[in-house]
Amino acid sequence: MTRLIRMAVILTIIAILFVVMTTAPKAEELDSQYWPVATRQQLHDLTENLSGERILDTIHYLTQYWRWAPSHGFHIVAQHMVDETKSYGLQDAHIERFIADKKTRYFGQTMNRPSWDPIAAELWVVDPVKQKITSFSDIPMSVAGYSRNTDVTAELVDVGDGSSPEDYAGKDVKNKVVLGSGAVGSLQQMAVFQRGALGVLSAWAPDLQTSRDPIDFPDFVTWGTGVVPESATGQPSTFGIMISRRQREVLLNLMKTGKPVKVHVTVKADFEEPGYLEVASAVIPGTEFPDQEIIFSAHLDHPRPAANDNDSGSATILEIARVLEEMIKSGQLPPPKRTIRFLWVQEGRSTRSWIVSHPELSKHAIANINMDIVGSDTEKTRAILYYWASSSSHPSFVSDIVEDYFELVRNVNNDKMPTEPLSPILSQTGSSRPFIGSIQRYLRPSDQSFLISAGIPGVNFAAWPDQFHHTQFDTPDKSDTTLLMRVAFISAASAIAAANAGPQDFEALLADVAGRAHVRLGEDLLKGLRILDHADAKNLQSAYREAVNVIHEGYAREDRNLQSLSVVAANDQKSIDELRQQQTTFRASETVSLQQVEFTYQARAGNSAGIGQDSPEELRAKNRVPVWIEETDPEGVFQRLGKEKINKLQILHYTSQKQEPFVPDFNVTLFETLNFIDGKRSEQAIRDAVSAEYSAVPIGVIDELFDALAEAKLIQIKTVAP
Ligand SMILES: [Zn+2]
Repeated sequence: MTRLIRMAVILTIIAILFVVMTTAPKAEELDSQYWPVATRQQLHDLTENLSGERILDTIHYLTQYWRWAPSHGFHIVAQHMVDETKSYGLQDAHIERFIADKKTRYFGQTMNRPSWDPIAAELWVVDPVKQKITSFSDIPMSVAGYSRNTDVTAELVDVGDGSSPEDYAGKDVKNKVVLGSGAVGSLQQMAVFQRGALGVLSAWAPDLQTSRDPIDFPDFVTWGTGVVPESATGQPSTFGIMISRRQREVLLNLMKTGKPVKVHVTVKADFEEPGYLEVASAVIPGTEFPDQEIIFSAHLDHPRPAANDNDSGSATILEIARVLEEMIKSGQLPPPKRTIRFLWVQEGRSTRSWIVSHPELSKHAIANINMDIVGSDTEKTRAILYYWASSSSHPSFVSDIVEDYFELVRNVNNDKMPTEPLSPILSQTGSSRPFIGSIQRYLRPSDQSFLISAGIPGVNFAAWPDQFHHTQFDTPDKSDTTLLMRVAFISAASAIAAANAGPQDFEALLADVAGRAHVRLGEDLLKGLRILDHADAKNLQSAYREAVNVIHEGYAREDRNLQSLSVVAANDQKSIDELRQQQTTFRASETVSLQQVEFTYQARAGNSAGIGQDSPEELRAKNRVPVWIEETDPEGVFQRLGKEKINKLQILHYTSQKQEPFVPDFNVTLFETLNFIDGKRSEQAIRDAVSAEYSAVPIGVIDELFDALAEAKLIQIKTVAP
């Protein structure tokens, strides 16, 4: 080769390289451009129609009301949602009511909830000095739930924490007012119901969910929840006043003088039995598949002010209802093929009664998008936005669509790629910060969990952990209109996609769901390999079995998730065939993942190591199939078994959240164990599914739970031939 030719070749290579390098899109650009079903124009129009400020206005409106579930205050705001959605043009806007007495059961449990509205309350020291401590007008949250009309002057007794019998040793609290730092529900039980106190002052300040340290917040007054309208023997509630740590110090200092301290407590409250749980509901009807609903939900109840928890979620879905309806009217969006429903509920309570009253929905609804705390300003509240996908028992392609839009919003706000379909989403008065959000595969219970229990896949948004959660400082100034707008955009765009997806979108959605499946399966492989890595020689074989189980169940989950796309395929044969093909390919790739785990196992254990035999308990569990007699959720189990029995169950120790005292609806292992009961899966299959999702649960733990459920007549156990 002459020098000249060599030079020419080199120059050509450089030129080709230059062209390749400058025209090939960067990997991040490719990856950030994906958004399903909706058009670029529709997304653009959506950002221009949504108003974070409008959402904040609704938050301001809602915070005027004490919204106990149930109460007149709640009814007023529920009616507001009905009136607003009607004025936008939504259909079938109405309030549904469900009696909440001692005998009517919803989803396996009674919900005895009288209607209760606090009107006024004051706490004064009258002896040895006269000093006002707090009042309902100053801090609405200073009245504990189910406080009744009261006008008493009595001596104050300090019981320390007041949650255990030892706190009362040598103290006479009868006909006195008790001061404690424990939870007001425990104080009510220990001091009022068991020892005849007139009522309680509670300086309870921690938060079981955020684990904030009360030392940092001496002025926090927390929501007085956990109280009951009457004791187990029918003794009526009296009163509870919620005070801050600082106010408690004031009272303790007065008591230090040795003279009896007398307080004067007045409460005026409206108390009606029975109460009625309520749900406000409105729809944008679907044109082709009206029963395949996409259900937005947000809990509208809570004490005053409760701006971020959860006026933010309630106000955000109201804004989505307005914008979608207006965009449809103006022709910016086609009328949806599937119905889009909006529900404003009383957290858990009316959600349960509503879902059991609409059994047809459980069969056909596609997915639920729930919002529980979505406005929390990151700097003020220290919360970031979380997105929780649907749980493994009920996966859905809608989860993946929401994830797509979540990532799109993160990309347009943080990377500011010129190739994106949108400009950064910023409200006019909110922050202009990057979008800090996290996608979570595992469940955080809120109202979506009650729909999952009823068979509808559900996703949830929550800004967390908001340090003002359940205190008097959860006020509208802690909401960021930019974040509100971003959440509204993610979920509205997702609803547009889910409500309109059809065979023309099938291939794109299939590629998306299959691609995301492999990401999750990669995480499962990582989890499986870590289980092996953490094992010592003694438990290596059982670790191997759990690792295999994680992989196998991961593939089963993704198969169910792919199957959820069949509603999009509808009757289109080409799509149906493609879906089947994809599912077959997945089954084949499971073998490859299992080989990787096996390889790692054998490298550690030696080539002759096998998977081991089933234990007699495991063999037995394979022949036991639980079938619901009366379907329920963790709270129902708690109620039907009773505290004493449930506290002995080992499953309580298998939860991803360390909670003391036990909060039944936060035990995700119990929650999913119940969700996997379908009359087909054996006890062993349920153990395997829930163990892969969270952490390994011994079969004896599940066995014990199912025996208890059978004894309580919630399930029956079918024995099938081996
Ligand atoms: Zn809350």
